[in-house]
Amino acid sequence: MKILIDAGHGFDTPGKQSPDGLLKEYAWARDIAKRLEAKLKQLGFDAQRITPEENDVKIATRVSRINAICNSVGANNVLLISIHNNAAGHGTWGTGKGFSVFVSKNASANSKKCAAMFTDEAIAHKVMGNRSIPVGKYWTWSWTKSDIGILKNSACPAVLTENMFMDNKEDCSFLLSEAGKQTIVDLHVAAIQKYVKSL
Ligand SMILES: [Zn+2]
Repeated sequence: MKILIDAGHGFDTPGKQSPDGLLKEYAWARDIAKRLEAKLKQLGFDAQRITPEENDVKIATRVSRINAICNSVGANNVLLISIHNNAAGHGTWGTGKGFSVFVSKNASANSKKCAAMFTDEAIAHKVMGNRSIPVGKYWTWSWTKSDIGILKNSACPAVLTENMFMDNKEDCSFLLSEAGKQTIVDLHVAAIQKYVKSL
């Protein structure tokens, strides 16, 4: 089983920071991706970051990296996690807070099962904030005709974690704290362990 970790945006992705500029999504996601990779390897998993560089890597490039690995080891022997921060996106501090997990509209049963395990672990780690829990315990981009490219086009089961709101003051300081980072890594590890065990 190969666990692929995508760190989302690059330093050159526009926007994507907290209103005070202290949390930069690309840097935070890379920090978490490195911690997650290290922890998974320590536990004996075959984990790999697919965006080791600091710049924004085009979705198509990321997908081709992922699918090359899927082709060589079999798509069902691969799991992709894409790490992000949520934002209400008004450029000011907002009230939306908490964790959510997304799958594509064409998601496989395994993607949905894995996402539900992430929601269960987010509940267990008390980071749901004021997010509602959808039927099935996963979100999709239901409000638009478009879809999440990296999830839609990757051949393997794939989920995208929106790790709380970088434009919520409480969430933001939690995300920047050592305890907060550890909590987010722990919940990812627990969900991945459950998913792998379920196969
Ligand atoms: Zn993002």
